[in-house]
Amino acid sequence: MTITTAKGVWDAVLGRLQLEVTRPSYETWLRNTSGLSLHEDELVVGTPSTFVAEMLEHRMYSLISQAVDRVVDGRLEVRFQVVPQGAGVQAAATGPDRSDGKQGGVDAEAGHDRPAPDFPTVLGSRPILNPVYTFEGFVIGKSNELAHAAAVAVAENPGRAYNPLFIYADVGLGKTHLLHAIGHRISAAGGSLLYSTTEDFTNEYIKAIRGGTTEEFRHRYRTADALLLDDIQFLIGKEQTQEGFFHTFNALHMSNRQVVITSDRPVTQLSLLEDRVRSRLAGGLVVDIQSPDLETRLAILRAKADASGYQFTQGVLEFFAERIHKNIRDLEGNLNRVIAYAQLSREHISIDLVKRAIADSLHPASHRRVSDQQILDSVAAYFDVEREALFTRRRDKQTALARQVAMYLLREELHLGFTAIGRTLGGKDHTTVIHACSRIASRIDADSHLRRDVLNIRESLTQPTV
Ligand code: ADP
Ligand code: MG
Repeated sequence: MTITTAKGVWDAVLGRLQLEVTRPSYETWLRNTSGLSLHEDELVVGTPSTFVAEMLEHRMYSLISQAVDRVVDGRLEVRFQVVPQGAGVQAAATGPDRSDGKQGGVDAEAGHDRPAPDFPTVLGSRPILNPVYTFEGFVIGKSNELAHAAAVAVAENPGRAYNPLFIYADVGLGKTHLLHAIGHRISAAGGSLLYSTTEDFTNEYIKAIRGGTTEEFRHRYRTADALLLDDIQFLIGKEQTQEGFFHTFNALHMSNRQVVITSDRPVTQLSLLEDRVRSRLAGGLVVDIQSPDLETRLAILRAKADASGYQFTQGVLEFFAERIHKNIRDLEGNLNRVIAYAQLSREHISIDLVKRAIADSLHPASHRRVSDQQILDSVAAYFDVEREALFTRRRDKQTALARQVAMYLLREELHLGFTAIGRTLGGKDHTTVIHACSRIASRIDADSHLRRDVLNIRESLTQPTV
């Protein structure tokens, strides 16, 4: 039986895609799409934003078109069309721009509402945003890609993509950075913005109550295109401010203004917030940022090192990335300390200098208590060779590479001597070991595949073994 409506076809396609992509991907990119119209050779699919349309077109098209092929016989091209959610027919017809009349209302109100000077973080269309915290300066990795994608979506379609957007993560993982990046993008597009830390919000609210100026407070906070509120966990225990926040939030949300909130813990753990506030926070899209993996830490360090104008070898950055694990702010702070140290001492930046500069914040690699046997196991497993083959003189390419990487890692991870490494590997000569270590060390700089292989093995060494 063939399906003959756009909705029918697309719903069937969604059903298939739901089984093929991860749940967060499905929720983020596919859930709010709909079949709009079906033509002889084209299916038009509505998406909530340009960003989603682009994502589906560029990153998921082959998956989608395969699913379409399986649902209908014969080939159908899929075209994506933006249909802003909650927008009237007219807005949908004019596309995703912000000409739906809302702007007029804001302008009319804003005309006689210049921010008062005693609201330092609330500067109408010129909020205080850190100029460095942009999307361009944000390195994307597995740990933050969803949060990044959601932030971009919201910044490009404020009030339309996901509302509110709730971003949570441990300290130093990029919440404030993303929040500011959203702010930059919205204000570059001419949107008016309120950026506030929750502490400032609280202080202003209390001050407004004391000074009898809650009317102005309300007005100011409710007429922005977007409210960006950092570190909502500071509302815990502040009942009066929660009340103020709740009403502000509702007013903004009801008029489709974007609200973005960050928190150092998930909504469910904001236990002292009133239920009604919590359920509001969870009512949009909730995304988290995890600690960055080794590869992402390296990419971030590389970006910051290059921006510093100082020369950092890959080896030095790896030394850093392996020892500072959790927190990007720590990575950055230590990099800056090393640079300052290098400036003062007029030395090149070497591992030795790094050790001296940041001795107290280094977690020695030996904390991980990796054994030589673990290294051999990991290398053999990674290259899919027999562990015993490492001890032989077999020279097929895969075995030879695995053996050299094993030598390199025994040296790097355990600081074993060349002779000891030779012994561990079934009695190889120390010159063989020296050759292997230096060969791998220099190839790592040039060969990104090998670099990734070695990184992956190192990462696997840090995973707890069960
Ligand atoms: P949080 O608000 O989560 O505590 P921040 O946003 O202040 O963390 O980030 C801490 C530091 O790390 C900032 O200097 C920020 O620019 C940097 N940072 C965090 N994530 C990234 C990233 N993905 N790419 C580049 N820099 C990052
Ligand atoms: Mg922060």
